[in-house]
Amino acid sequence: MAEPARQIDLIDARPAFTQADADTLNARFEGVDTLTMLKTVFAEKLAGNVAVVSSFGTESAVLLDLVAKADRNVPVIFVDTLKMFAETLNYRDTLIRKFGFTDSRTVAPIADVIAKKDETGLRWSYDPDGCCEIRKVEPMKRAKDGLDAWISGRKAFQSVTRQNLPRFEVEDGRLKLNPLGDWTKSDLETYFDRENLPRHPLEAQGYLSIGCEPCTSKVAPGEDPRAGRWRGWDKVECGIHSPVSAIPLPGGDPDDPANQPVF
Ligand code: SF4
Repeated sequence: MAEPARQIDLIDARPAFTQADADTLNARFEGVDTLTMLKTVFAEKLAGNVAVVSSFGTESAVLLDLVAKADRNVPVIFVDTLKMFAETLNYRDTLIRKFGFTDSRTVAPIADVIAKKDETGLRWSYDPDGCCEIRKVEPMKRAKDGLDAWISGRKAFQSVTRQNLPRFEVEDGRLKLNPLGDWTKSDLETYFDRENLPRHPLEAQGYLSIGCEPCTSKVAPGEDPRAGRWRGWDKVECGIHSPVSAIPLPGGDPDDPANQPVF
């Protein structure tokens, strides 16, 4: 297949992907296994200048292993909010080494912004959205400068806000890949065991979804794994991910509320 024809983004002169490109790619790779898809995307440069973004959480090793098997020269981006668990930073170093990635990038908040907007370092406790904006969303925007596409580790099963997750979507003219979108928890566990991947050291203590230290708590048996994130707040995402686009259920009416994603 020829590389999708892209329009030029007039603001930063970056070729912009369109929804039609995403639709074409979703159709082309329907039913194709994840590793083959990634190898093809990289080999044929279907996503242009692409990087994988990882939180180095409990499930991150699966996507990183797949990306490394496809092409270990793909850049790996980590947003260090300066509120991370020490265990996460160590786990990041372990995985980067193990998988042999050649281009590991860490992006952090701007010191002046933190000094002005989160002088005490406690903004997370009274304004988590504002805290995520300066510590995650802004650094992530900088990290994506110059990228045509990025790879996310989101899975549909993680949360109702992530249902209807396509493998390819478009956000601000960038292609966003969700290679594990249709993977189940059981698929991940099987992959971890088969490839003998190292676990995040906090997982055994009951942390099933791991973000910043102040905003992550243990999860009780049977709870949604993401229930431990921003516990007590009406907040389920950090702002890095836009709500997913609606994909009607097979045979369904896209205007039917039953076929819309729940935000
Ligand atoms: S997860 Fe918590 S500490 Fe981290 S950036 Fe968001 S509000 Fe701040």
